Amino acid sequence: MRALVTGGAGFIGSNLCERLLNLGYEVLCMDNFYTGSKNNIREFYDNPAFEVIRHDVGEPFNIEADFIINLACPASVPHYQKDPLKTMKDNVFGIFNVMENARRLNVPVLHTSTSEVYGSPNIHPQPESYNGNVNPASVRSCYDEGKRAAETVMFDYHRRYGTDIKVIRVFNTYGPKMLENDGRVVSNFIVQALKGEHLTVYGDGSQTRSFCYISDLIDGIILFMTDKSGFTGPVNMGNNYEFAVKDFAKLVLSLTGSKSKIKFVELPKDDPVQRNPDLTLAKKALGYNPKIGIEEGLKKTIAYFEGVLKK
Ligand code: UDP
Repeated sequence: MRALVTGGAGFIGSNLCERLLNLGYEVLCMDNFYTGSKNNIREFYDNPAFEVIRHDVGEPFNIEADFIINLACPASVPHYQKDPLKTMKDNVFGIFNVMENARRLNVPVLHTSTSEVYGSPNIHPQPESYNGNVNPASVRSCYDEGKRAAETVMFDYHRRYGTDIKVIRVFNTYGPKMLENDGRVVSNFIVQALKGEHLTVYGDGSQTRSFCYISDLIDGIILFMTDKSGFTGPVNMGNNYEFAVKDFAKLVLSLTGSKSKIKFVELPKDDPVQRNPDLTLAKKALGYNPKIGIEEGLKKTIAYFEGVLKK
């Protein structure tokens, strides 16, 4: 079985490539290396089951595979806001190209949508039945609305052509192979703590997020990918252990043993106030159950960044 993983050199993509290789799949990793990194996939180069294709998902492609997992899109807030028009194209043109390739081959597609489709939610925790609270004209909309449009495209291919689709809404995920400078809260806080710099808490830090360790998300992706029930989602995946950002900063300080201080800085525009996945559907439909506690996951991630910073 050959898997095509778009965005395969990114944080989630490279962890997924590793798992697929370990499970005995052949892996075609497609990436334009805009935010993906060769450092994330270099260790697979000698594996004959692994191939890399430099290609931008926004351009049409014709690639043979038995299933497709679509991860291609800049995903951290600073990265997706750097070129918002490109982010929208990656999402919308990208999903058309993925779905056309899948329709031609008659193979399933698993697409990673996002908790951002809920915008700044006024229902908490967020079930899949909640349609969200998204401002179409915001600085976050290139990602939020791009991902929402991509879901629409998938469901219309499914309705019109019967394409086998699987849609995951990924909540905040962290772990080894995140970029040290991608601007996400987990990588920022750990790197700042390890370097002895101030931890930059945005706003008053009362906004909440729920953090999932990467191996739990990968477990969920594999469960869904191998599911034969015809379940399409959309389904939330993440961990529902919720933190206020300022408490999260304190936890990182305690686990790193850092003497860094917390510095409160301006809150970015339209930063969602709270976020927590309702995982009822994921548990019921797929038996999904995240296992890694926050301290265990953070310790592994801290060890990873210690290694990166030493280099
Ligand atoms: N955040 C923060 N300090 C940072 C980076 C992020 O306080 O250095 C906050 C950010 O405002 C948001 C939360 O942490 O409320 C999660 O941010 P991230 O960019 O990791 O993901 P998001 O959930 O916003 O996509």
